[in-house]
This record gives sequence, structure tokens and C-alpha cells, in this order.
Amino acid sequence: MAVFVNELSFSVENTRQHSAESSRIIGKLYQQFIHMFDYSITPEILANKTILITGAGAGIGRQAALTYAELGATVILLGKTVAKLEAVYDEILGNGHPEPAIVPLDLKGATKQNYIDLTSTIVSQFGKLDGALLNASMLGELTPFTQVSEQIWHDVMNVNVNAQFLLAQALIPSLLKAESASLVFTSSGVGNKGKAYWGAYSVSKFATEGMMQVIADEYENSSLRVNAINPGATSTNMRASAYPAENKDSIAAPEDIMPLYVYLMSDDSKAVNAQRLNAQ
Ligand code: NDP
Repeated sequence: MAVFVNELSFSVENTRQHSAESSRIIGKLYQQFIHMFDYSITPEILANKTILITGAGAGIGRQAALTYAELGATVILLGKTVAKLEAVYDEILGNGHPEPAIVPLDLKGATKQNYIDLTSTIVSQFGKLDGALLNASMLGELTPFTQVSEQIWHDVMNVNVNAQFLLAQALIPSLLKAESASLVFTSSGVGNKGKAYWGAYSVSKFATEGMMQVIADEYENSSLRVNAINPGATSTNMRASAYPAENKDSIAAPEDIMPLYVYLMSDDSKAVNAQRLNAQ
């Protein structure tokens, strides 16, 4: 599998980095709203890193898992459908990359204790955790706000917000023990601008961005950086449910948006904190 070319780019929107110099530069960029960055990915850039990926069985999470493994990381694959996780596991092993681990867990029903146990297992098996990509989420239904069902609202909030809250709470103490750690949330185009009919999903992504900002601010002077990715339109099952008539070839494939996913897990992004980054 060849996922990468050497010269890759993504755009950065907003706000803050650790150093005063970076703040000045980013502030300037913010005034211009958007700036394109170039990022060269070197092979083995994630060697010796242990990275948890939620929603690793399909779509963007699956591609992130394959990509991180290709770049040398040991990946922990969390998702709700075991067969999908096993397929990713087999693909990684088949490609000769570090052996991954599988964590079957439905975020909808998981408890605080599940996340605490998960974290202890990771640390006891792998010794450390360098990164977590909180990618899994559910779309719910696209419908007028007055017709959003209470059940869907609660399910979406459970998976997209409450699970991220409990998981982040459980992971942070271990992430802080790594030399340099990255916690990455997943937002959306409707995560900072509400859009008609996107109901619970849009609200959940605003909450995700809020959570990212709160945690990032609390750990600003630590070895942990916390950011959010807005993937942009990407051909996956979720995108197909939202836009069933869309031509899949007209939008990005998951592998196209990997540069930002790699950048945020690599030490190259050590100084980047509290940002909402566009993958395309
Ligand atoms: P997919 O629906 O293709 O994949 C979602 C993944 O999350 C699947 O592996 C799914 O597992 C897992 N998942 C869903 N619900 C649960 C749950 N309750 N417990 C555990 N795992 C669960 O989505 P995408 O890859 O498109 O989306 C990835 C992220 O990117 C999401 O946060 C999404 O909101 C965001 N995003 C995507 C965009 C796009 O255009 N694709 C645009 C903007 C944001 P299983 O397969 O087993 O159900």
C-alpha cells in the first residue's frame, strides 16, 4: 500500500501555538482566514509511537490506522464491529507493519469504568500512549430541528460527546506521561457553523470543539497538545448517508486527507495546540 507522496499540504485556520513567535505568525494567518501549509512526510515518522484510534474499522479511522501503522506506529483499533477491526488488523500485519491491538467497544453504551480499564490495558501492554485520534462518531438523522427524535438526540450526544468526554478523561493522565503526546478530536464543517437539518450532529460537533479548547487551554504548558480536525467532504459511509446522490469520485478519499492526520501525531506538531485544522 503506498499512501503517500512526499509533498503534501493542508490548510490551517485559527489560532494559537505555544511560542510568542508562533502566536504572532498564526495571528497574522488568522486575519487572512486561511493559509496553506506544505508538509513532507518522512517514512517511519511515527516509529515507536503507540496510538489509539476510535472508529478504526471503517472510513477515515480505518485509513488513519493503516497510515499510522505504515509509518511505524503501533495502533490500537477501537470500534464497534469486530469483523471490521479484524480486517484492518489483518491488513496491517499483512503489510508487515507493527502488530496492532483490537478493542471492540460500542461507545454508545460504554461506561466510565470501560474507559479506565481500556487505558490501564494499553499502558500495561504497551508501556505508554503517545496519541489518541478520537474519530468515531454517528450522524443520526438529517431532519428539521422540530422533528429530531429524542432518542436520536441522546444517542448522538452519547457517542459524539459523552463518550469523548469519558475517554479523554481516562486517557489524559497516561498521555501526560509520554514524552510528547497528541490528543486529536474530530469536528466537521458544521462544528463551528450551524446548518439547517444537521441537528444533533452539528450541536455535538460544536461541543467537541468546545471540549478540545477547554482541555487544550488547561494543558497549554504541558507535553500534551490537543487539537481538532475538520476532515472536509470525504468519501465514506457517513458521507454517503448524508449525501446519497453524490458522486464519490468528486470528493476526497480518506487517503487524500492523511497528511494532517499524520502531522498532528508526529513530533513535527509539538508546538501546535488548541487549533481547529482543516484537512483539505
Ligand atoms: P464512518 O461512518 O465511515 O465511520 C465511522 C466509524 O466510527 C466506523 O468505524 C464506526 O464503526 C465507528 N463508530 C460509529 N459509532 C460507533 C460507536 N457507537 N462505537 C464505536 N465505534 C463507532 O465515518 P467517517 O469515517 O466519515 O467519519 C469519521 C469522523 O469524521 C467522524 O467523526 C465524522 O463526524 C467526521 N467527519 C467526516 C466527514 C466526511 O465527509 N466523511 C466530514 C466531516 C467530519 P462501525 O463501522 O463498526 O459502525
